[in-house]
Amino acid sequence: MDVDYKALKNGGFMRQKQKNRFSLRLKVVGGNLTAEQIVVIAGAAKKYGDGHVHLTSRQGVEIPFVRLEDVEAIKTELAENGVLTGVCGPRVRTVTACQGDAVCPSGCIDTYTLACEISDRYFGRELPHKFKFGVTGCVNNCLKAEENDLGVKGAYLVEWKKETCTFCGVCLKACREGAITQEAASLTLNKDTCNNCGRCVKSCPFDAWKGRPGYILSFGGTFGNLIAKGEEVFPVIEDKKTLFRAADTALDFFEKYGKAGERFRAAIERAGWDTFKEEMQKALPKDRLTMDGFEIDTAIDITGLVCPVTFVKAKAVLDEMETGQVLSIRMNDGEPVRNVPRSLKDEGHQILKLTGNNDGTYNLIVRKEEEP
Ligand code: SF4
Ligand code: SF4
Ligand code: SF4
Repeated sequence: MDVDYKALKNGGFMRQKQKNRFSLRLKVVGGNLTAEQIVVIAGAAKKYGDGHVHLTSRQGVEIPFVRLEDVEAIKTELAENGVLTGVCGPRVRTVTACQGDAVCPSGCIDTYTLACEISDRYFGRELPHKFKFGVTGCVNNCLKAEENDLGVKGAYLVEWKKETCTFCGVCLKACREGAITQEAASLTLNKDTCNNCGRCVKSCPFDAWKGRPGYILSFGGTFGNLIAKGEEVFPVIEDKKTLFRAADTALDFFEKYGKAGERFRAAIERAGWDTFKEEMQKALPKDRLTMDGFEIDTAIDITGLVCPVTFVKAKAVLDEMETGQVLSIRMNDGEPVRNVPRSLKDEGHQILKLTGNNDGTYNLIVRKEEEP
Protein backbone atom coordinates (compact mmCIF):
# COMPACT_ATOMS: atom_id res chain seq x y z
CA MET A 1 0.00 0.00 0.00
CA ASP A 2 1.34 3.45 -0.95
CA VAL A 3 1.33 5.72 2.06
CA ASP A 4 1.30 9.48 1.60
CA TYR A 5 3.52 10.36 4.57
CA LYS A 6 3.58 14.03 3.61
CA ALA A 7 -0.21 14.31 3.76
CA LEU A 8 -0.21 12.47 7.09
CA LYS A 9 2.43 14.84 8.48
CA ASN A 10 0.51 17.91 7.24
CA GLY A 11 -2.51 16.55 9.13
CA GLY A 12 -0.59 16.15 12.40
CA PHE A 13 0.50 12.49 12.15
CA MET A 14 4.26 12.59 12.78
CA ARG A 15 6.13 9.54 11.57
CA GLN A 16 7.95 7.72 14.37
CA LYS A 17 11.21 5.79 14.19
CA GLN A 18 9.10 2.65 14.76
CA LYS A 19 7.70 1.37 11.46
CA ASN A 20 4.13 2.45 10.68
CA ARG A 21 3.65 4.20 14.00
CA PHE A 22 2.72 7.86 14.29
CA SER A 23 2.70 10.44 17.02
CA LEU A 24 -0.56 12.35 16.56
CA ARG A 25 -0.31 16.06 17.25
CA LEU A 26 -3.49 17.67 18.62
CA LYS A 27 -4.71 21.23 18.23
CA VAL A 28 -4.49 22.82 21.69
CA VAL A 29 -5.02 26.57 21.26
CA GLY A 30 -3.50 28.70 23.99
CA GLY A 31 -2.59 25.62 26.03
CA ASN A 32 -6.24 25.22 27.12
CA LEU A 33 -8.12 21.94 27.28
CA THR A 34 -11.38 21.24 29.09
CA ALA A 35 -11.56 18.38 31.57
CA GLU A 36 -13.87 16.58 29.09
CA GLN A 37 -11.29 16.91 26.30
CA ILE A 38 -8.58 15.50 28.56
CA VAL A 39 -10.76 12.45 29.27
CA VAL A 40 -11.34 11.97 25.51
CA ILE A 41 -7.59 12.27 24.81
CA ALA A 42 -6.77 9.80 27.60
CA GLY A 43 -9.28 7.31 26.17
CA ALA A 44 -7.82 7.66 22.66
CA ALA A 45 -4.27 7.22 23.97
CA LYS A 46 -5.31 3.97 25.66
CA LYS A 47 -7.31 2.70 22.68
CA TYR A 48 -5.07 3.73 19.79
CA GLY A 49 -1.68 4.51 21.37
CA ASP A 50 0.37 2.83 24.06
CA GLY A 51 -1.45 4.54 26.89
CA HIS A 52 0.67 7.66 27.31
CA VAL A 53 0.61 11.20 25.90
CA HIS A 54 3.50 13.55 25.31
CA LEU A 55 3.31 17.27 26.23
CA THR A 56 5.25 19.26 23.65
CA SER A 57 7.40 22.34 24.18
CA ARG A 58 4.63 24.44 22.53
CA GLN A 59 1.79 23.49 24.87
CA GLY A 60 0.67 20.74 22.52
CA VAL A 61 -0.41 17.21 23.30
CA GLU A 62 0.71 14.27 21.16
CA ILE A 63 -0.59 10.72 21.21
CA PRO A 64 2.32 8.49 20.19
CA PHE A 65 2.25 4.93 18.81
CA VAL A 66 -0.87 5.30 16.66
CA ARG A 67 -0.94 2.55 14.02
CA LEU A 68 -1.22 3.43 10.35
CA GLU A 69 -4.48 1.49 10.06
CA ASP A 70 -6.00 3.52 12.94
CA VAL A 71 -5.26 6.98 11.53
CA GLU A 72 -8.78 7.68 10.24
CA ALA A 73 -10.53 6.06 13.20
CA ILE A 74 -8.67 8.07 15.86
CA LYS A 75 -9.14 11.31 13.92
CA THR A 76 -12.89 10.75 13.60
CA GLU A 77 -13.35 9.62 17.19
CA LEU A 78 -11.46 12.64 18.56
CA ALA A 79 -13.29 15.11 16.29
CA GLU A 80 -16.69 13.69 17.27
CA ASN A 81 -15.76 14.37 20.88
CA GLY A 82 -14.48 17.92 20.47
CA VAL A 83 -10.73 17.30 20.05
CA LEU A 84 -9.11 18.44 16.81
CA THR A 85 -5.85 17.36 15.24
CA GLY A 86 -3.00 19.83 14.74
CA VAL A 87 -0.87 20.54 11.69
CA CYS A 88 2.75 20.30 10.74
CA GLY A 89 4.76 21.41 7.71
CA PRO A 90 4.87 24.84 6.02
CA ARG A 91 1.86 26.55 7.51
CA VAL A 92 0.60 28.49 10.54
CA ARG A 93 0.92 26.24 13.57
CA THR A 94 -1.16 26.04 16.74
CA VAL A 95 -1.20 29.37 18.61
CA THR A 96 0.28 29.34 22.10
CA ALA A 97 -0.61 31.62 25.03
CA CYS A 98 -0.02 32.13 28.73
CA GLN A 99 -3.02 32.43 31.06
CA GLY A 100 -3.24 36.20 30.67
CA ASP A 101 -5.54 38.53 32.58
CA ALA A 102 -8.35 35.96 32.90
CA VAL A 103 -6.29 34.22 35.59
CA CYS A 104 -2.95 35.92 36.17
CA PRO A 105 -2.86 39.05 38.41
CA SER A 106 -0.06 40.52 36.26
CA GLY A 107 -1.92 40.07 32.97
CA CYS A 108 -2.73 43.10 30.83
CA ILE A 109 -4.67 41.35 28.03
CA ASP A 110 -7.05 38.44 27.51
CA THR A 111 -4.51 36.11 25.91
CA TYR A 112 -6.76 33.10 25.40
CA THR A 113 -9.45 35.03 23.53
CA LEU A 114 -6.77 36.64 21.35
CA ALA A 115 -5.06 33.27 20.71
CA CYS A 116 -8.42 31.82 19.57
CA GLU A 117 -9.04 34.83 17.31
CA ILE A 118 -5.56 34.49 15.77
CA SER A 119 -6.11 30.76 15.37
CA ASP A 120 -9.52 31.21 13.71
CA ARG A 121 -8.01 33.66 11.26
CA TYR A 122 -4.70 32.01 10.35
CA PHE A 123 -4.41 28.42 11.62
CA GLY A 124 -3.21 26.10 8.84
CA ARG A 125 -2.58 28.90 6.31
CA GLU A 126 0.00 27.68 3.78
CA LEU A 127 3.27 29.62 3.82
CA PRO A 128 6.86 29.07 2.62
CA HIS A 129 7.75 27.51 6.00
CA LYS A 130 6.23 26.95 9.44
CA PHE A 131 4.92 30.07 11.17
CA LYS A 132 4.43 30.34 14.93
CA PHE A 133 2.31 32.81 16.86
CA GLY A 134 2.68 33.18 20.62
CA VAL A 135 0.68 35.44 22.95
CA THR A 136 1.98 36.45 26.37
CA GLY A 137 -0.07 38.52 28.79
CA CYS A 138 2.42 41.07 30.03
CA VAL A 139 6.07 42.13 29.92
CA ASN A 140 6.98 39.34 32.38
CA ASN A 141 6.91 37.41 29.10
CA CYS A 142 6.32 33.92 30.52
CA LEU A 143 5.47 32.69 27.02
CA LYS A 144 8.63 34.23 25.53
CA ALA A 145 6.93 36.16 22.73
CA GLU A 146 10.18 36.92 20.88
CA GLU A 147 10.79 33.22 20.21
CA ASN A 148 7.90 33.26 17.76
CA ASP A 149 7.68 34.31 14.13
CA LEU A 150 5.07 36.77 15.39
CA GLY A 151 4.97 37.36 19.12
CA VAL A 152 2.30 39.36 20.93
CA LYS A 153 3.00 40.76 24.39
CA GLY A 154 0.29 42.38 26.48
CA ALA A 155 0.97 45.88 27.78
CA TYR A 156 -0.73 48.79 29.53
CA LEU A 157 -0.66 52.35 28.22
CA VAL A 158 -0.79 54.21 31.49
CA GLU A 159 -2.09 57.60 32.50
CA TRP A 160 -2.01 59.29 35.90
CA LYS A 161 -5.16 60.88 37.34
CA LYS A 162 -4.21 63.65 39.70
CA GLU A 163 -7.74 63.97 41.15
CA THR A 164 -7.61 60.65 43.03
CA CYS A 165 -3.89 60.50 43.88
CA THR A 166 -3.05 60.72 47.60
CA PHE A 167 0.74 60.75 46.95
CA CYS A 168 1.19 57.61 49.02
CA GLY A 169 4.28 56.68 46.98
CA VAL A 170 3.26 53.03 46.38
CA CYS A 171 3.49 53.28 42.57
CA LEU A 172 6.95 54.83 42.73
CA LYS A 173 8.16 51.77 44.60
CA ALA A 174 6.24 49.37 42.33
CA CYS A 175 7.73 50.80 39.13
CA ARG A 176 10.90 48.80 38.46
CA GLU A 177 11.90 51.05 35.59
CA GLY A 178 12.06 54.24 37.67
CA ALA A 179 9.67 55.79 35.15
CA ILE A 180 7.65 57.71 37.76
CA THR A 181 9.00 60.71 39.61
CA GLN A 182 7.31 62.87 42.20
CA GLU A 183 7.80 66.58 42.62
CA ALA A 184 5.64 68.42 45.14
CA ALA A 185 2.01 67.56 44.35
CA SER A 186 2.62 66.04 40.96
CA LEU A 187 3.80 62.76 39.44
CA THR A 188 5.62 62.64 36.12
CA LEU A 189 5.74 59.64 33.81
CA ASN A 190 8.85 59.16 31.69
CA LYS A 191 7.45 57.51 28.57
CA ASP A 192 10.95 56.65 27.31
CA THR A 193 11.73 54.43 30.28
CA CYS A 194 8.20 53.09 30.89
CA ASN A 195 8.00 49.50 29.64
CA ASN A 196 4.18 49.37 29.83
CA CYS A 197 4.22 46.68 32.54
CA GLY A 198 1.13 48.09 34.27
CA ARG A 199 2.53 47.61 37.79
CA CYS A 200 1.61 51.20 38.70
CA VAL A 201 -2.02 50.54 37.72
CA LYS A 202 -2.19 47.29 39.65
CA SER A 203 -0.44 48.65 42.73
CA CYS A 204 -2.25 51.96 43.22
CA PRO A 205 -4.75 51.61 46.10
CA PHE A 206 -6.73 54.63 44.85
CA ASP A 207 -7.09 53.82 41.14
CA ALA A 208 -5.11 56.92 40.28
CA TRP A 209 -3.31 55.15 37.42
CA LYS A 210 -5.47 54.09 34.50
CA GLY A 211 -4.21 51.48 32.06
CA ARG A 212 -5.47 50.82 28.56
CA PRO A 213 -4.54 47.40 27.18
CA GLY A 214 -2.09 47.41 24.27
CA TYR A 215 -0.02 44.95 22.24
CA ILE A 216 3.74 44.85 21.72
CA LEU A 217 4.47 42.90 18.54
CA SER A 218 7.75 41.20 17.63
CA PHE A 219 8.62 39.70 14.26
CA GLY A 220 11.07 37.08 13.01
CA GLY A 221 11.87 35.12 16.18
CA THR A 222 13.26 31.61 15.73
CA PHE A 223 14.42 29.14 18.32
CA GLY A 224 15.52 26.03 16.50
CA ASN A 225 18.70 25.48 14.54
CA LEU A 226 18.99 29.22 14.30
CA ILE A 227 18.36 31.26 17.44
CA ALA A 228 17.25 34.85 16.94
CA LYS A 229 15.06 37.18 18.96
CA GLY A 230 11.99 38.69 17.29
CA GLU A 231 12.29 42.42 16.62
CA GLU A 232 9.83 45.15 17.56
CA VAL A 233 9.17 47.42 14.59
CA PHE A 234 6.14 49.32 15.96
CA PRO A 235 5.35 51.33 19.03
CA VAL A 236 2.72 49.68 21.28
CA ILE A 237 -0.39 48.92 19.24
CA GLU A 238 -3.59 50.08 20.84
CA ASP A 239 -6.33 48.09 19.15
CA LYS A 240 -6.98 44.63 17.72
CA LYS A 241 -7.92 45.99 14.32
CA THR A 242 -4.36 47.31 13.85
CA LEU A 243 -2.90 44.15 15.38
CA PHE A 244 -4.66 42.00 12.78
CA ARG A 245 -3.74 44.40 9.98
CA ALA A 246 -0.10 44.03 11.07
CA ALA A 247 -0.38 40.23 11.19
CA ASP A 248 -2.05 40.17 7.74
CA THR A 249 0.76 42.34 6.36
CA ALA A 250 3.47 40.15 7.93
CA LEU A 251 2.01 36.94 6.50
CA ASP A 252 1.51 38.56 3.08
CA PHE A 253 5.15 39.73 3.23
CA PHE A 254 6.27 36.16 3.96
CA GLU A 255 4.21 34.85 1.05
CA LYS A 256 5.61 37.51 -1.27
CA TYR A 257 9.30 37.39 -0.30
CA GLY A 258 9.82 33.94 1.27
CA LYS A 259 11.32 31.04 -0.65
CA ALA A 260 10.02 27.51 -0.02
CA GLY A 261 11.74 26.09 3.05
CA GLU A 262 12.91 29.47 4.31
CA ARG A 263 11.85 30.75 7.74
CA PHE A 264 10.17 34.13 8.10
CA ARG A 265 13.27 35.71 9.59
CA ALA A 266 15.45 34.54 6.69
CA ALA A 267 12.91 36.04 4.25
CA ILE A 268 12.99 39.36 6.15
CA GLU A 269 16.80 39.39 6.19
CA ARG A 270 17.05 38.62 2.49
CA ALA A 271 14.48 41.30 1.58
CA GLY A 272 16.03 43.65 4.16
CA TRP A 273 14.66 44.87 7.47
CA ASP A 274 14.09 48.31 5.93
CA THR A 275 11.85 46.83 3.25
CA PHE A 276 10.00 44.86 5.91
CA LYS A 277 9.56 47.92 8.12
CA GLU A 278 8.30 49.95 5.15
CA GLU A 279 5.68 47.30 4.35
CA MET A 280 4.70 47.04 8.00
CA GLN A 281 4.24 50.80 8.30
CA LYS A 282 1.36 50.42 5.84
CA ALA A 283 -0.46 48.39 8.47
CA LEU A 284 -0.51 51.30 10.92
CA PRO A 285 -3.55 53.59 10.88
CA LYS A 286 -2.87 56.30 8.34
CA ASP A 287 -3.79 59.95 8.24
CA ARG A 288 -4.94 59.97 11.84
CA LEU A 289 -6.46 63.31 12.55
CA THR A 290 -4.85 65.15 15.45
CA MET A 291 -6.91 67.53 17.56
CA ASP A 292 -5.74 69.38 20.67
CA GLY A 293 -2.79 66.97 20.82
CA PHE A 294 -5.01 63.85 20.73
CA GLU A 295 -5.00 61.38 17.85
CA ILE A 296 -8.59 61.00 16.69
CA ASP A 297 -9.95 57.71 15.40
CA THR A 298 -13.42 58.94 14.47
CA ALA A 299 -14.95 62.42 14.21
CA ILE A 300 -18.67 63.24 14.12
CA ASP A 301 -20.68 66.46 13.87
CA ILE A 302 -23.94 66.54 15.87
CA THR A 303 -24.61 70.26 15.54
CA GLY A 304 -27.70 69.50 13.41
CA LEU A 305 -29.31 67.41 16.18
CA VAL A 306 -31.25 68.22 19.34
CA CYS A 307 -31.13 66.54 22.74
CA PRO A 308 -31.49 63.67 23.53
CA VAL A 309 -30.75 62.56 19.92
CA THR A 310 -27.30 64.15 20.30
CA PHE A 311 -26.34 61.70 23.05
CA VAL A 312 -27.98 58.73 21.30
CA LYS A 313 -25.95 59.44 18.15
CA ALA A 314 -22.66 59.84 20.07
CA LYS A 315 -23.31 56.65 22.04
CA ALA A 316 -24.14 54.68 18.89
CA VAL A 317 -20.84 55.74 17.30
CA LEU A 318 -18.87 54.86 20.46
CA ASP A 319 -20.56 51.45 20.61
CA GLU A 320 -19.07 50.67 17.20
CA MET A 321 -15.56 51.76 18.24
CA GLU A 322 -12.92 49.71 20.01
CA THR A 323 -11.88 50.28 23.61
CA GLY A 324 -9.15 52.91 23.78
CA GLN A 325 -10.12 54.63 20.52
CA VAL A 326 -10.77 58.35 20.54
CA LEU A 327 -13.88 60.11 19.25
CA SER A 328 -14.16 63.81 18.47
CA ILE A 329 -17.67 65.28 18.63
CA ARG A 330 -18.59 68.74 17.38
CA MET A 331 -21.74 69.96 19.12
CA ASN A 332 -23.75 73.09 19.78
CA ASP A 333 -23.48 75.25 22.89
CA GLY A 334 -26.42 75.06 25.32
CA GLU A 335 -28.17 71.76 26.05
CA PRO A 336 -25.81 69.53 24.00
CA VAL A 337 -22.68 70.79 25.72
CA ARG A 338 -24.36 70.47 29.12
CA ASN A 339 -25.74 66.96 28.51
CA VAL A 340 -23.52 64.99 26.13
CA PRO A 341 -20.18 65.11 28.04
CA ARG A 342 -21.90 64.31 31.36
CA SER A 343 -23.91 61.43 29.88
CA LEU A 344 -20.87 59.92 28.15
CA LYS A 345 -18.92 60.18 31.41
CA ASP A 346 -21.80 58.45 33.24
CA GLU A 347 -21.51 55.63 30.65
CA GLY A 348 -17.92 55.15 31.84
CA HIS A 349 -16.09 56.83 28.95
CA GLN A 350 -13.19 59.16 29.53
CA ILE A 351 -13.62 62.84 28.74
CA LEU A 352 -10.25 64.04 27.42
CA LYS A 353 -11.02 67.61 26.45
CA LEU A 354 -13.85 70.06 25.82
CA THR A 355 -12.94 73.15 23.82
CA GLY A 356 -15.05 76.11 22.69
CA ASN A 357 -14.74 77.01 18.99
CA ASN A 358 -15.82 80.70 19.38
CA ASP A 359 -18.66 80.11 16.89
CA GLY A 360 -21.36 78.72 19.18
CA THR A 361 -20.02 75.17 18.91
CA TYR A 362 -17.78 72.99 21.09
CA ASN A 363 -15.42 70.12 20.39
CA LEU A 364 -15.52 67.20 22.79
CA ILE A 365 -12.76 64.61 22.72
CA VAL A 366 -13.69 61.35 24.43
CA ARG A 367 -11.93 58.02 24.78
CA LYS A 368 -13.98 54.84 24.66
CA GLU A 369 -13.52 52.80 27.82
CA GLU A 370 -14.26 49.14 28.43
CA GLU A 371 -17.91 48.25 29.04
CA PRO A 372 -18.49 48.31 32.81
S1 SF4 B 1 3.28 36.68 30.96
FE1 SF4 B 1 2.29 37.95 32.47
S2 SF4 B 1 0.12 37.44 32.26
FE2 SF4 B 1 1.26 35.80 31.30
S3 SF4 B 1 1.48 34.29 32.93
FE3 SF4 B 1 3.34 35.56 32.89
S4 SF4 B 1 2.96 37.10 34.44
FE4 SF4 B 1 0.99 36.20 33.91
S1 SF4 C 1 0.07 54.70 44.24
FE1 SF4 C 1 -1.66 55.84 43.46
S2 SF4 C 1 -2.23 57.20 45.10
FE2 SF4 C 1 -0.17 56.43 45.59
S3 SF4 C 1 1.21 57.97 44.69
FE3 SF4 C 1 0.90 56.43 43.13
S4 SF4 C 1 -0.82 57.21 41.93
FE4 SF4 C 1 -0.82 58.33 43.84
S1 SF4 D 1 3.70 50.91 33.35
FE1 SF4 D 1 5.36 49.94 34.50
S2 SF4 D 1 7.20 50.99 33.82
FE2 SF4 D 1 5.48 52.24 33.19
S3 SF4 D 1 5.20 53.71 34.85
FE3 SF4 D 1 3.86 52.00 35.28
S4 SF4 D 1 5.06 50.68 36.61
FE4 SF4 D 1 6.50 52.08 35.63
